[in-house]
Amino acid sequence: MKYTSFIVKYAEIGIKGKNKYRFEDALVNRIKKVIQDIGSFNVSKSQSRIYIHSNGDYDYDKLISTLKCIFGIASISPIYQIKKTNYIDLSKAVLEYLNLEYGKDKSFSFKVRAKRLDKKFEITSDDINRELGHDILENFSNSKVDVHNPDFILHIEVREDINIYSISIPGPGGMPYGTNGKGMLLLSGGIDSPVAGIMIAKRGVLIDACYFHAPPYTSDRAKQKVIDLAKIMSKYCGPICLNIINFTDIQLAIYEKCPHDELTIIMRRYMMKIAERIASEDNCLGLITGESIGQVASQTMASMLSTNEVCHMPVYRPLIGFDKLEIVEKAIEYGTYETSILPYEDCCTIFVAKHPVTKPSLNIIKKSENALSEIIDELIEKALNTKEKIMLDTYA
Ligand code: ATP
Ligand code: MG
Repeated sequence: MKYTSFIVKYAEIGIKGKNKYRFEDALVNRIKKVIQDIGSFNVSKSQSRIYIHSNGDYDYDKLISTLKCIFGIASISPIYQIKKTNYIDLSKAVLEYLNLEYGKDKSFSFKVRAKRLDKKFEITSDDINRELGHDILENFSNSKVDVHNPDFILHIEVREDINIYSISIPGPGGMPYGTNGKGMLLLSGGIDSPVAGIMIAKRGVLIDACYFHAPPYTSDRAKQKVIDLAKIMSKYCGPICLNIINFTDIQLAIYEKCPHDELTIIMRRYMMKIAERIASEDNCLGLITGESIGQVASQTMASMLSTNEVCHMPVYRPLIGFDKLEIVEKAIEYGTYETSILPYEDCCTIFVAKHPVTKPSLNIIKKSENALSEIIDELIEKALNTKEKIMLDTYA
């Protein structure tokens, strides 16, 4: 069945008080942007909903799958819309709608929920419920009314037009794109960090990203994998500015001058430091990582105390209490998993110690870093000066 109109409902925006219009406008603009290549649509807001009207042909499945990735959307309902005339026309339209959507012989239980927002319409909401219930039972011999647990609720809204709908396709929830500042994601080619970035984007945060690579120890394929991941993420997050930082010299210096069991912690501290520099240049308000307590040696509470110590900005770790399997489930849901598991080397795994410390002492780590004091500032500046910036956007 072909629909020309949709109601998009949102959840949390409804409670934003005076600022509500800002969130609504952000969601309307985002929807307009992502569906513009699917067809010609009018997108507008009215009375705490967003309406999408198509002006011609479009791919229904593509429209729905695209909208399902837009944060801020609680649900999408395809609607059958008729001009407001009288009850007889409404009843005719409802029967036609049910016939098209479910078929004449389908067995179903239902409940009618009418809302007469225009009090001039000839009968009340209660009467619409009752009369329509009766008409449906009479015309669909395998249907029955169930007010407690129906297969579907048939919504009738008498507004400027009359909206008829019974389908509610769940959206991803969250807050609309760009309504909550910007964060800098430390994006590796692994499973966790892309999921972490998407989860923070779900709260309306714009995402920029930093990827540290170590050529020639890490390959172009490993770099391309991260670029591909950022592109996949942008379907949810919006455009991502990916900073690619050459970390080779810093990594070699750490390898040469610091104890090997502390390599990962020291390396991570410099990554955080550099990411924070780029973050503040790019007006980000926090860092984001894919860490989860205890997942690996560098993610014990003691290790994170050491890595966190170099940062002044808040570090958001949305996966902190997640098990790996739960993260994998999310990666599959967001479509990043297949790319994340491609077996290309990461700079962290190349210079890794056989037995990394799991309970590093911050004092000892700082002492070990003293061995770098004469060269590290220059190496950091060089890494920053040679960074590559790439803009990734599914909808560019
Ligand atoms: P992921 O699957 O996200 O790579 P992981 O389980 O492999 O995580 P680590 O390698 O310990 O864990 O990395 C922890 C976090 O540090 C990552 O989630 C990411 O935010 C950041 N990180 C690690 N390596 C890099 C890198 N090469 N470039 C940018 N950020 C990185
Ligand atoms: Mg990793």
